Parts: sequence; C-alpha cells; structure tokens
Amino acid sequence: MQIDIKTHAHSQMIDITSQVRQLVKKSNVQNGLVHIFSMHTTAAITINDNADHAVEEDILNSINKVIPWDDQFKHMEGNSAAHIKGSLFGPSEIIPLENGSLVLGTWQGIFFCEFDGPRDRQVNVKIQADS
Ligand code: ZN
Repeated sequence: MQIDIKTHAHSQMIDITSQVRQLVKKSNVQNGLVHIFSMHTTAAITINDNADHAVEEDILNSINKVIPWDDQFKHMEGNSAAHIKGSLFGPSEIIPLENGSLVLGTWQGIFFCEFDGPRDRQVNVKIQADS
C-alpha cells in the first residue's frame, strides 16, 4: 500500500498518522507490525509529538542549524544537506499493531519529513499480520 504526499515547503514535517490508520483499518489486520517506508534519499520518516506544531518547527529549525544547506559539500546536485538529514532521521519506522490499533504513545504521531521540497513523494506501508 502507498501514501502519496505532495510537499509544499523546502523543509516540512507532515503528520501521516491518520492515513496510516486508514490503511490499517482497510487491511483488517488486528495484530502484527506496520512498516512505514519512505522511498526517497532526501526525505525520512520519524515519530514525534503531533499535539503541538511548535515541536515540528523546533525540530526543523534545529536540524537546519546542525546541517546547513551550504557547507562546501561535494555532491553535484547541491542537496547534500537533505541527503544527510534523510540518513540521520532514517527512511522507516515500525509500529506494533494490537487489536486493530497502532501502539503509539499519547503524544506520538508519524511524520513524513521533507528535506528537499516541494516535491511529490511516496510512502510505502506494509502491514504484516502475526502468524
Ligand atoms: Zn542529491
């Protein structure tokens, strides 16, 4: 299964928790694992606070300070900062599924992280039932 995402900013965190929940519901799987995978080298998947949007801003502001866009990188495409952020955050997350619900903490949400937008992006979601 796939989630299509259109990003609108150069750096952006997009809450995809509700889309993942919809795919889980559609699958009818009650117990297992949900694997969420970004098919891109300049984007990532992370889990963090989705109650206060200021957290997303703080994360992006901080990571942009740690890895500035211009830092004498060698990659010809000129977007090495986005590649580095993508690797630091990582391309995927695995979430347990119990009784049809994602096992997430109260404040946890699933985010697609754009580091070189705006672009059209795809996230693969694999739901594996317990055997
Ligand atoms: Zn590149």
